[in-house]
Amino acid sequence: MADMNLLLRNASLCDGRTGMDLLVLGGRVTALGPALTAPSGVPMHDAQGWLLSPPFVDAHFHLDSVLSYGLPRVNASGTLLEGIALWGELKPQLTEEALVERALSYCDWAVAQGLLAIRSHVDVCDDRLLAVRALLQVRQQVAPHLDLQLVAFPQDGLLRSANARANLVRALDLGVDVVGGIPHFERTMAEGAESVRWLCELAAERGLRVDMHCDESDDPLSRHVESLAHQAQRLGLHGRVTGSHLTSMHSMDNYYVSKLIPLMAEAGLHVVANPLINITLQGRHDTYPRRRGMTRVPELLAAGVNVGFGHDCVLDPWYAGGSADMLEVAGMGLHVAQMTSQAGMRQCFDAVTTHNARILGLDGYGIEPGCRGDFVLLQARSPAEAIRLRAQRLLVVRGGRVLAQAPMRESRLHLQGRPATVDLSLQR
Ligand SMILES: [Zn+2]
Repeated sequence: MADMNLLLRNASLCDGRTGMDLLVLGGRVTALGPALTAPSGVPMHDAQGWLLSPPFVDAHFHLDSVLSYGLPRVNASGTLLEGIALWGELKPQLTEEALVERALSYCDWAVAQGLLAIRSHVDVCDDRLLAVRALLQVRQQVAPHLDLQLVAFPQDGLLRSANARANLVRALDLGVDVVGGIPHFERTMAEGAESVRWLCELAAERGLRVDMHCDESDDPLSRHVESLAHQAQRLGLHGRVTGSHLTSMHSMDNYYVSKLIPLMAEAGLHVVANPLINITLQGRHDTYPRRRGMTRVPELLAAGVNVGFGHDCVLDPWYAGGSADMLEVAGMGLHVAQMTSQAGMRQCFDAVTTHNARILGLDGYGIEPGCRGDFVLLQARSPAEAIRLRAQRLLVVRGGRVLAQAPMRESRLHLQGRPATVDLSLQR
């Protein structure tokens, strides 16, 4: 138990409080406040006024394709559809060992970046369920360091791909946590709606959460998020269903969206935007003006919908970049959605921490007494500065144990004191 105790001195908090101590005993936060005393023998770390945050959470990732960039070739058109085709070429060549090795490497990167919970989709359209077995093994192996939640994802279409329904059920029976889908990739709009109904009913029967790739296109007439909200409402799945991507909402008619967003809020739908991937894959059929293709983040937040940001891909058939840095994700979201007010920047930080934790349904997430002793200490004075500087992760702690440490960066880029004219409260 001794290595699950820790006292952090003199931290700043995301809400603006400074000079705060955090005490973790037996892996749990027992106190948060100024000038705490700790039982003798509890190791002390001096935060030197830097920013204490609950760990980063990624609500949308693909750990089965991660670090496969260039295998067997590079995506030439840069589109989602070529990425899916490319992944189809790679699938027969995959081995369980290689899948496990790449996923574990990525989890190492994640922990070093203070990213301690990931929801990863896993492709079930392979009768061997190779990726499912590999990621279940990875989930168990990384459990001491990182919460990995798996989504059964029918990449080639639930109805479009032979055996996808049976394979998805087999994956859930093996222990995959969440029901996934891809209605916009089914053969018709009607079959897409049918897949949403079937998957939501399956989740309701089994008491599971739902997270679908939904309307990931520039098609202004794609309507699957409407079906998803309807099924969530009908089956009483409030707060348990997530619509991922929803990029078509970027291109939809404003009148239609004015009806859609209240329906989503009423159904308690969560939304995940994937800023790095959306700005990369969408708008590829446009000349100019070229659409940004990210869903309507500020409007959804204003309507009370919980919106998180996901990393989605790192070095795979869809994306040639990424480094497990959720601050890079938040930074891209901030720019694409033009969330440049003080409140907007704070919401972008929340979108990779607390909002994502709510989507995953993480237990004991936060830095209040009673929460798990998990946190990251960032070399920044505020959430907005953390995003601006892609702040160094000075300390990454899980259950009171130090998992990663990094030296202070020599930098003159930090804001010393705050200009009196900047109101850092959440007022716009
Ligand atoms: Zn995805």
